[in-house]
Amino acid sequence: MSEKSGIVILGIFAADTAYKAKRLPHIAETLMGSGFTLGPGGKGSNQAIAAAKAGGKVTFISRVGNDAFGAMALAAYAEAGVKANVMKMEGVSTGAAFIFVDEVSGDNAIIVVPGAAGLIGVEDVEANRAAIESAAIFMTQLEQPLEAALHALSIAKRAGGITIFNPAPAGAIPDSIYGLCDFIVPNEVEAAELVGHAIETDEQARAAAHTLVDRGAKAAVITLGARGAFYHTAGQSEFVPAFSAGNVIDTTGAGDAFVGGFATAISEGRAPTEAVRFGCATAAIAVTRPGTAPAMPSRAEITALLG
Ligand code: ADP
Repeated sequence: MSEKSGIVILGIFAADTAYKAKRLPHIAETLMGSGFTLGPGGKGSNQAIAAAKAGGKVTFISRVGNDAFGAMALAAYAEAGVKANVMKMEGVSTGAAFIFVDEVSGDNAIIVVPGAAGLIGVEDVEANRAAIESAAIFMTQLEQPLEAALHALSIAKRAGGITIFNPAPAGAIPDSIYGLCDFIVPNEVEAAELVGHAIETDEQARAAAHTLVDRGAKAAVITLGARGAFYHTAGQSEFVPAFSAGNVIDTTGAGDAFVGGFATAISEGRAPTEAVRFGCATAAIAVTRPGTAPAMPSRAEITALLG
């Protein structure tokens, strides 16, 4: 088999439209708001942009509609240098998230409509089989239908690639998925959902990571917000502290920045704990900026923070 290279990511794009007002609206009420932002979102899409900006050679597999939000997604991939294996569909909208933000409390209420990306299935994976089989790294999440993620992970694993699974958003997964994961990378909420106990202390994070590895994952990385991340594989465990890159202004997408940076570092052959540090540095910079995909740092910025 020829030498493997690059990172292939399967996931969804959703345009994030955020509406700010002094409180959330009531049923049947029209409320005058105080701010609006529109930006590219969707976990897989954010991760693809993070990994490419961090220096990875990235292909993103997804679906969008033939509309303005779809054009926005494709423009974001062109700008970040992501190869877009993205099917443009007629008659169905691009994924979109409608986010109400209470400007006083910071509370939000969100409706996500995956649109075209909700139709991603086994056929998308088959259409990209050659790319998945030749990738050094394959990575996915849980925003698109689970059967597509399972099928792609098993193809990547059978072909001898390294698989990274970000089980987000939190939800139940079949036990058969663990054996397909070289790295399973949940945050605290997602890990708690998987193992069935809260993760508030370092000891609970350690116990959860052991459980995920006992279930068949080769290694687990649990991200712990401002505390950093915990890495565990048979015979090796390490807490990696978070970096500080300035004032924290928006932690949305921190997990996407982390796994994007982590995937790039693994694709370059770095040791897993070094890749966790690289992911923490990537996310530390992203949280000092507004938005998700537009907040992802360049390789030069990450290298400077790592020192
Ligand atoms: P998610 O965004 O999925 O909830 P986390 O909150 O665990 O994920 O954050 C992912 C990673 O981002 C953490 O492991 C850490 O490296 C980094 N991070 C998150 N919040 C901060 C912060 N306030 N300061 C520095 N780094 C942070």
